[in-house]
Amino acid sequence: MTGPSVAERVREVPPSGIRRFFELAEEMDDVISLGVGEPDFTAPWRAREKAIESLELGQTSYTANRGMKALREAIASHVEKWDLTYDPDDEILVTAGASEALDLTFRALVDPGDVVAVVQPSYVSYIPDVMFAGGTALPVPTRAEDDFVLTPEALADAGADRADMLVLCYPNNPTGATMTRDELARVAEFVCEHDLTVISDEIYADLTYTRSHTSIASFDGMRDRTIVYNGFSKAYAMTGLRLGYALGPSNVIGAMNRIHQYTMLSAPTTPQYAAIEALESCDESVEEMRTQYDRRRKFVLSRFEDMGIDCFEATGAFYVFPECPWEDASAFAEALLEAEKVAMVPGSAFGECGAGHLRVSYATGLSDLRTAMDRLERFLD
Ligand code: PMP
Repeated sequence: MTGPSVAERVREVPPSGIRRFFELAEEMDDVISLGVGEPDFTAPWRAREKAIESLELGQTSYTANRGMKALREAIASHVEKWDLTYDPDDEILVTAGASEALDLTFRALVDPGDVVAVVQPSYVSYIPDVMFAGGTALPVPTRAEDDFVLTPEALADAGADRADMLVLCYPNNPTGATMTRDELARVAEFVCEHDLTVISDEIYADLTYTRSHTSIASFDGMRDRTIVYNGFSKAYAMTGLRLGYALGPSNVIGAMNRIHQYTMLSAPTTPQYAAIEALESCDESVEEMRTQYDRRRKFVLSRFEDMGIDCFEATGAFYVFPECPWEDASAFAEALLEAEKVAMVPGSAFGECGAGHLRVSYATGLSDLRTAMDRLERFLD
């Protein structure tokens, strides 16, 4: 039995490169995984308590399609620290994770054949999302020499001046790179000159370690051409509660909501109660987690340095992206997993220009990180 035939645009999309690796790791016992893309912390208790309380009160109905008004208002206040001003009534959409918001945007904005430039290395969902929406993805490689920061030169070299849209993610998954205000200003200039719409995934905006986050939407001329994504999965350690949001011009948010209201109705209700509490009273918990990530980040970077492994100073998210000691990072990752039971993801899973690197997540406790680094050192010896 082969079953009904699957649509061509779905068949065209290759399975995630990370999956295969995790399947290998899952078959083994006692693996220390530095491959994960989610916090090892639990969501702040006060947020969880509100979720429980909402269930006790029987708040189990749908919410407004766009999300609870109190949550949209709390989001509008939260993003003010990045000089972002959005109207909770028609410029904010609450979704089932940033993932849903990203998917809705491509479905709302991409016409068949539209070209969407995607900065690489990058989170694995963007290109498949573009393909599902019938668009053509144009990879824009960034360079290890530039510490994986996006430059106008890289955009021009990739032909992004002819694209309709540009997907950015800073702080970046998988590299941990962030961009300074000046670096972003140069990209903003390119974007305005070539009239691109920007998809700015800022889900790690609260997890920066050397300077606070700058949003590309805060530059002159950018607000009306940018959609910003954020959510509760990373800074609030709420991955399983599936809640995110998009900020953007009302016509785009309205178009996304038109799809959302038919396909999702509303984001899950219980997490929305948790999220309001998270935004209003959990700054301290976020700061505690951020401090711990920073400690681990410094630890991992210094261990790599001691081992003679080249690694630029990643300043955001919870990843570092060292150069692989072997030319073939996939072979290295598999050999390390087999010999020492430490899982790291080969950088090529995030785009060709990531080849020769490894993504190492430090969303793992210090004691496991220490053991993993000791095992890595033994493996290299
Ligand atoms: N964007 C990036 C860059 C991510 O790393 C992730 C999660 N790994 C997401 C989006 C998806 O987040 P969510 O859980 O909110 O759907």
